Amino acid sequence: MPEYGILRTKYETVLEMNKYDILGKYYGYRSFREGQEMLIDHILDGKDVLGIMPTGAGKSVCYQVPALLLPGITLVISPLISLMKDQVQALNQAGVHAAYINSSLTEGQITKALTFAEQGRYKIIYVAPERLETERFLRFAGAVEISMVAVDEAHCISQWGQDFRPSYLHIVQFVRRLPRRPILSAFTATATGEVREDIVSVLGLDNPKTLVTGFDRQNLFFAVEHTKNRTRYLQHYVADRGKESGIIYCATRKNVEKVYEQLRNEGIAVTRYHAGLSPEERRNNQDDFIYDRKPVIVATNAFGMGIDKSNVRYVLHYNMPQSMENYYQEAGRAGRDGEQSDCILLYSAQDIMINRFLLENKENSADFTPDEQLTIRERDEKRLQSMIYYCNTKECLRTCILRYFGEKNGSACGKCGNCLKHYVEKDMTAEAGQVVRCLEEQGERYGIQVVIGTLLGGKSAKLREYRVQQYPSYGTLGKWREQELKDLIGQMIQEGYLRQTQDKYGLLQTTGKAQDIVDGLCKVMVKMEPRSSRIAEEDDRIKGSTNRRSDILNTRGLAFFEELRELRREIAREKAIPPYLVFSDKTLVDMCVRLPMNREEMMEVNGMGAFKYEKYGARFLSCILEYTGGIREKFYFGE
Ligand code: ADP
Ligand code: ZN
Repeated sequence: MPEYGILRTKYETVLEMNKYDILGKYYGYRSFREGQEMLIDHILDGKDVLGIMPTGAGKSVCYQVPALLLPGITLVISPLISLMKDQVQALNQAGVHAAYINSSLTEGQITKALTFAEQGRYKIIYVAPERLETERFLRFAGAVEISMVAVDEAHCISQWGQDFRPSYLHIVQFVRRLPRRPILSAFTATATGEVREDIVSVLGLDNPKTLVTGFDRQNLFFAVEHTKNRTRYLQHYVADRGKESGIIYCATRKNVEKVYEQLRNEGIAVTRYHAGLSPEERRNNQDDFIYDRKPVIVATNAFGMGIDKSNVRYVLHYNMPQSMENYYQEAGRAGRDGEQSDCILLYSAQDIMINRFLLENKENSADFTPDEQLTIRERDEKRLQSMIYYCNTKECLRTCILRYFGEKNGSACGKCGNCLKHYVEKDMTAEAGQVVRCLEEQGERYGIQVVIGTLLGGKSAKLREYRVQQYPSYGTLGKWREQELKDLIGQMIQEGYLRQTQDKYGLLQTTGKAQDIVDGLCKVMVKMEPRSSRIAEEDDRIKGSTNRRSDILNTRGLAFFEELRELRREIAREKAIPPYLVFSDKTLVDMCVRLPMNREEMMEVNGMGAFKYEKYGARFLSCILEYTGGIREKFYFGE
């Protein structure tokens, strides 16, 4: 490493400001969220930190605020080009000079950016991991003062993680070659122990202060819908949401195309995204979505990494994802601005087959030994089982998610789809005994479908072929519905009376405990939906969560919100940036509630920083004054 010496530069002076001033001036927020402040304090103390926070928790503030207070430059390592661009645009919008360096720039542009950086124009530079090893970048890094290296999406460094990126290993080499070791900070939303240990040891974090914030996202409404007609549900739901922004995830390209066509035929402004489209079309469609030109996007899981759009009001899953990790990451793209948003999974049992098929045909890297491949296959199957459980449980969905991610939180949330459903609890001990007898008669040779078919007295060709009429239990539970018997068997598996073989046949078998039922030593209680309410509720539930924008603003308020949204679109078009970078939905709602009439009042609005006010404040003020004639009407419900 040649000696270049530290270049003293005239960084924008922010030294007289403290962290609160920065948060207010550049972000327009009055207080830090839980945990942010602690990480920031440690960084400012010169210590390494590790932040494990779910999507939307506010990781960027944790490294951007100290970056503006530390003497030198902060490098932010990020795996995705789109994410970098978005973050840098957001910073520039807020009045912070920042730049990014990645393969989307020409060599000339990179040279220019680095020259500016050497002159001290940028406090924050986003850089792709591949760039770190280039001669030009190393020369730059040796010549300036680097106070901190912040590693975003730090789980990419772990070979155990879902998205291992070998280029992340460059970070370690790079830091070693710097004349002075900077502070290291790492951030991820992946919580598993293995990944966490990998981050600390591979990156070489020095006794880092670790923060794990709650994985709970209070503003998200979770529900699973067992609807017979997914298409109808979807069309109703999306039409009902009007101009709101939403993502619909499908398991396959074919489904994306199908759902996309269906919505388009209904006259909905919708676009699509999957790996089968040309890169150009993908980019265009993604932009249509981000810039609110097409508020709805139908996509495979190829879509979303690095999408920072904060005003996504719903994420619907047309198919069940392969794991809770995937589900929570995808669903978590809703409501990053903290506003009420829906995460609804449309469940169909067929999805289990699709997922098994996808898992079996997954290309495992040739780097893995057969043993390792087997371990991976088992791990995948276990993850799928947890997902199936989530789709079928009657317990609180939020509790179920949090427990999966290792958070113990006993009480039901009272506001997810399951908590809001009115289940009745039935004593089904007698019926459970009948299930056990049926299994014994049949020698435990069949899967759930055949067992249920037998008990119901079904007449399908398959059942006739198996001659199920010959068993004494044939038709004995004929007065029940298929779903109710599924619930019963699910409950029996859950309580350990039955089990399913872990092969592709999924044979239903009794355990030693099952005899207790026959002997009358225990009770089997099953939660189920009351029969009469099912249809009526279906329509209600299509309406989704409570406490949405329409619960805060009254009709006049909602009309005014549209007015502000139009102004936001106009400004976004002029500046060629996505609307949510002008102001978030939350900020617009707060404007409707407060109706600020002057600068002072406007500065009280959530998300209004000084710099943003300079740029857009006047236009929003005049819009408010014009619309209201200076008279403060009440645009919201409540006090
Ligand atoms: P993450 O990177 O953890 O997914 P972001 O950094 O994108 O999350 O932050 C999510 C949203 O929360 C952004 O709109 C951000 O401006 C907002 N936010 C972050 N910190 C605060 C805070 N202290 N007060 C209010 N909003 C915040
Ligand atoms: Zn709940």
